[in-house]
Amino acid sequence: MSKPTLETVQNVAILGATGTIGIQTLDVISQHPERFKVFALTANNNVKSMFSLCSEHSPRYAVMLQPQAAAELGAQLKAAQSSTIVLHGEQALIDVAAHAEVDTVMAAIVGAAGLHPAMAAAKAGKRILLANKETLVMAGSLFMRAVEESGATLLPIDSEHNAIFQVMPHQRAKSLAEAGIKRVLLTASGGPFRNATLDDMRSVTRAQALNHPNWVMGPKITIDSATMMNKGLEVIEAHWLFNAAANQIDVVVHPQSVIHSMVEYNDGSVLAQLGNPDMRTPIAYGLGFPDRLQSGVNSLDLIKIGRLDFCAPDFSRFPCLRLAYDALNAGGTAPAILNAANEIAVEAFLAERIGFMDIPLMIESVLTASVIEDVVSIEQLATVDAKARRAASLWLENHA
Ligand code: NAD
Ligand code: MG
Repeated sequence: MSKPTLETVQNVAILGATGTIGIQTLDVISQHPERFKVFALTANNNVKSMFSLCSEHSPRYAVMLQPQAAAELGAQLKAAQSSTIVLHGEQALIDVAAHAEVDTVMAAIVGAAGLHPAMAAAKAGKRILLANKETLVMAGSLFMRAVEESGATLLPIDSEHNAIFQVMPHQRAKSLAEAGIKRVLLTASGGPFRNATLDDMRSVTRAQALNHPNWVMGPKITIDSATMMNKGLEVIEAHWLFNAAANQIDVVVHPQSVIHSMVEYNDGSVLAQLGNPDMRTPIAYGLGFPDRLQSGVNSLDLIKIGRLDFCAPDFSRFPCLRLAYDALNAGGTAPAILNAANEIAVEAFLAERIGFMDIPLMIESVLTASVIEDVVSIEQLATVDAKARRAASLWLENHA
């Protein structure tokens, strides 16, 4: 094994530690105790999971968003004679993300709630492993500027963007053209309803939508995958990460989820990154970069897989994908509005208040009724986000 490039042990803060990405990050970290130290873990309110993670990894800090959860965790850790310091609230999430002793931040909170802590890590010049795609969807211009100004290192964890990053030249080009790249191809599994009829899709249940064929993920991103809003958010994410125009980002449905994405160069070469659908690969890549670490992921058995299929996405059965391209083309605050309306719609679907095909209807209605502004500040985005959520809730009252 190659020697670690970094001279010292990296202190890691994991935002969203109890989630599927958080747990898998801790799995990879545990395989490399000589390289990583868990400095801080954060979660919303899951005391049981956080207690067991703290017992196993002994972080300096544990942060719960909810004060009651923090009080319970604090009492349990005290009884167990742990030295972990328990904090609570959004400011504490921001403080650990920007803490002077933190080298690496895994940004794996779900949804808009992840924006402020990820921004804090960017402004503090951290090495940021970005799983929270909503940060780039809402505030791509501000976030990328903060990374640039502070000299932070940004490593994409979303498997598609991680794949693209792996097959792109690493000296930062100003544009795809400068890197000799014609376009990026985001692969999409197509989710559980890839072959369903529009009629079937109108009556799908929560359980059916939560049953993703290839990936094990949190509930919000699993529903986003079923509507293909996830791919739409990823198109916007790719726009900011790689400075790619909407017409340079194509989506290819690839049901096996073995090719995680591709880049087409000007000479006709198409470079792809392949692997089993297991997030520990992109996580290990982000943690180790530029070194390659063991991740615990099984070898890819292409002979067993046998074939790789591809087809075009169907925008009529998956209107969320079209809505995301439209929001990217509209620019400004449109993607933030799309994101907020989507979060309310997904929550309402998970609460069985609306049907599956109501999700795009609600989002489109909110977007159509909104005024799109240029993005100027994070405070403005908070207002835009709240307003879009109110509009979405109103739609819900009138339609659910
Ligand atoms: P999850 O639902 O499993 O976990 C979410 C985590 O965020 C939990 O630790 C939870 O406690 C925390 N959290 C939730 N609400 C919060 C709030 N208001 N404030 C602070 N913390 C809060 O989600 P996940 O599947 O791990 O996804 C996390 C992020 O990574 C999402 O943005 C998702 O789109 C992205 N992502 C996930 C995967 C995957 O395979 N799961 C793949 C690519 C990208
Ligand atoms: Mg992805």
